[in-house]
Amino acid sequence: MPEKKRKNTGFKEWTKYSVNCCSGCSNDCLYCYAKGMAVRFKQLKADEWPLERVRQKDVDKKQKLYDGRVMFPSSHDITPSNIDACMVVIGKLLSAGNELLIVSKPRLDCISAICDCYSKYKNKIIFRFTIGASDERVLSFWEPNAPGYDERKLSLEYAYDTGFETSVSVEPMLDVYGVVDMVKDLEPFTTNSIWLGKMNHLKKNIKSDGEGIEQAVRVIEDGQRDENIWRIYQELKDNPLVKWKDSIKRVVGIEAPEEAGLDV
Ligand code: SF4
Repeated sequence: MPEKKRKNTGFKEWTKYSVNCCSGCSNDCLYCYAKGMAVRFKQLKADEWPLERVRQKDVDKKQKLYDGRVMFPSSHDITPSNIDACMVVIGKLLSAGNELLIVSKPRLDCISAICDCYSKYKNKIIFRFTIGASDERVLSFWEPNAPGYDERKLSLEYAYDTGFETSVSVEPMLDVYGVVDMVKDLEPFTTNSIWLGKMNHLKKNIKSDGEGIEQAVRVIEDGQRDENIWRIYQELKDNPLVKWKDSIKRVVGIEAPEEAGLDV
C-alpha cells in the first residue's frame, strides 16, 4: 500500500504563516525548493534566480496580526542587497504584535543589524539559522554564495549574546557524518532547538549538469540511508534541544503532529 501523503511538512512543521518581500535568492543553493517552484510556475528562469529583486509592494503593504508565529522569510534570504527592505517588513510585523521566526543562512552584518534595531522585541523573535554542515567545501558546493560556517556560527553567537532566542536548522543535512560533532559545536549558543532533516525531492529539485553534481547527489543519498539516520537518532535522541523534521520522523517512527505550526 502506498505511504499516506503527510500534510504539514516543510516550513508548516514550524509555522502556519510565512511572509516574503523578495523574488530570487543570491545564495543560489543547488537544492533550492523555492527556485524549483518559481521555475516550474514560470515566474522566472533558473538563471534569473540569483538576482534578488525586492518586491516593493510587499514592503509597502500593511502587516496584520496573525494568529500564530510568522516565519520570515521562507522563499529568499536576508542579504546585503535586501536588508533595508527586510528591516521594514520585520518592523511592520513586530509593530502589528506578531511573534517572528526569522530564518536565514545568516550574514553577521544583517543579523547584527536586526538584533541591534529590534532589541526591544527580543521576546517576540526566534532566530533559526540554517547550517547544513561545518565543512566549508561541502557548504560552498551546495550553497555557492551563502556565508561560510564561521560566519553562520558567529551570527548565532551574536544573537545568543544579545539575548535573543536562537535555534539551528540542519536541514538539509549536507554532511551526515559530521552532524553529531556540529550539534555539539553549536549547542552552547542555542536556546530553543536544533532541527535535523534530510534533503528532500532530490530528483525533482536538483538539475544535473554533469558528473560533479551526480556524484554529490549520490553522496547525499548514501548518507541519508536509514541506517545512518538511525545512528544519528540514537546519538542525539536524548539531547533536549534536538528535534526531528518529518523526513526523519518517518524513518524512526515518530508520529507527525496533525496540526501545522506546532514546532515539534
Ligand atoms: S537560501 Fe533558501 S531560498 Fe535562498 S537559494 Fe538557498 S534554499 Fe533557496
